[in-house]
Amino acid sequence: MLIVKKFGGTSVADAQRIKNAANKIIKSYKEGNQVVVVLSAQGDTTDELIEKADEINPEASKREMDMLLSTGEQQSVALMAMAIHSLGYPAVSLNAYQAKIYSSSNYTNARIKNINTERIHTELEKKNIVIVTGFQGVNKYGDVTTLGRGGSDTSAVALAAKLNADLCEIYTDVDGVYTADPRIVKGAKKLDEISYDEMLELATLGAKVLHNRSVELAKKYNVNLVVRSSLTDAEGTVVKEESNVEKMFVSGVAVDKDVSRISVIGLSDQPGIAFKIFSLLSKNKISVDIILQSIGRDNKKDISFTVAKCDLNEALRILEQNKQKIGCESISHNDNVAKVSVVGAGMATNSGVAALLFEALYNADININMISTSEIKISVLVNEKEADIAANAIHDKFMFESDAFGD
Ligand code: ADP
Ligand code: ASP
Ligand code: MG
Repeated sequence: MLIVKKFGGTSVADAQRIKNAANKIIKSYKEGNQVVVVLSAQGDTTDELIEKADEINPEASKREMDMLLSTGEQQSVALMAMAIHSLGYPAVSLNAYQAKIYSSSNYTNARIKNINTERIHTELEKKNIVIVTGFQGVNKYGDVTTLGRGGSDTSAVALAAKLNADLCEIYTDVDGVYTADPRIVKGAKKLDEISYDEMLELATLGAKVLHNRSVELAKKYNVNLVVRSSLTDAEGTVVKEESNVEKMFVSGVAVDKDVSRISVIGLSDQPGIAFKIFSLLSKNKISVDIILQSIGRDNKKDISFTVAKCDLNEALRILEQNKQKIGCESISHNDNVAKVSVVGAGMATNSGVAALLFEALYNADININMISTSEIKISVLVNEKEADIAANAIHDKFMFESDAFGD
């Protein structure tokens, strides 16, 4: 079998963890498998590199950020090759340039466009364990890019798809995908299986156990994907097309703290105003999430929306610059907010979901700032410091009261 094994930051955080991972890799190799390993930077390396950059230039160019951030993964792959050599097995480390992982040009958030797997195949034929940097790509200028935070999962799934691997294993610091982040929600339950669609929704709404783009790719190329623990041998969670075991009405709760809210106040209540605001933002590549418009009164209305924390300053700058053109009285913001979402394919056909969610928040005395719904999720914006309590309250309500829906 050809297996891609990805180890996240905590799973290679120190020498001992690297050796543990090396043993898992060698065990699989000794069973006769061809093994391609994808690694993240060790522990908090990426965060530390960002802090270093901030000390020197908080407005550092994205190209130079990628030059810096990509070094974390390069350290990991070399150290892993050394660990495997010390145990007496053949291994070779490759960065994105050597592994020919080609990406789009946009630094810090590039997308993998293609991978030329020739070199990897050659190394596998030489019986090497091939260790590839996660998170990195190379753009058309021959410059190194990175794939966005958490992007090593995407490197692994893209390699698995392109190599036609039999299996892609994501080794991490929890033993699978849970109904909520087990570090936040005490009652979270491990899932044996989850569908690509539900996993994609959870990942997009903040469950960082998998990078959302990795789930998109896994679905597109039907990659056999498993999330499991790097520390134990526990069975993990299979992410697949149709999940038949867990036909649950809600599949999980996700928390996203990387959110801030902007309110544009005192707009004139006439057509074209929303267009002005959101086209300005989209021209500057700022994605907007939940949007709320107040009912017009005295010919005035307000529009509030959320953006990622990293886009807040840029969004405020653009809006302030165009205040006259937009014609608003004031612009305010709040970055102490978080989005809590409940996800489930079974929700589309159940009218009582929203009521149940609001009841849970009411019982926990939590105020809701904004609400957004779709066929398979409901999201609420709450104060950041109440987000974990909200997630627990919602999780308890749905996991214990799902009987109410005949499950
Ligand atoms: P890695 O470094 O291995 O990529 P991450 O920190 O990116 O690990 O992702 C694993 C973390 O994701 C877990 O430690 C857990 O706190 C968090 N997480 C969030 N939502 C979930 C969920 N639904 N199931 C499991 N883990 C989750
Ligand atoms: N090292 C990168 C990060 O911390 C990529 C990853 O871990 O997936 O975001
Ligand atoms: Mg991760």
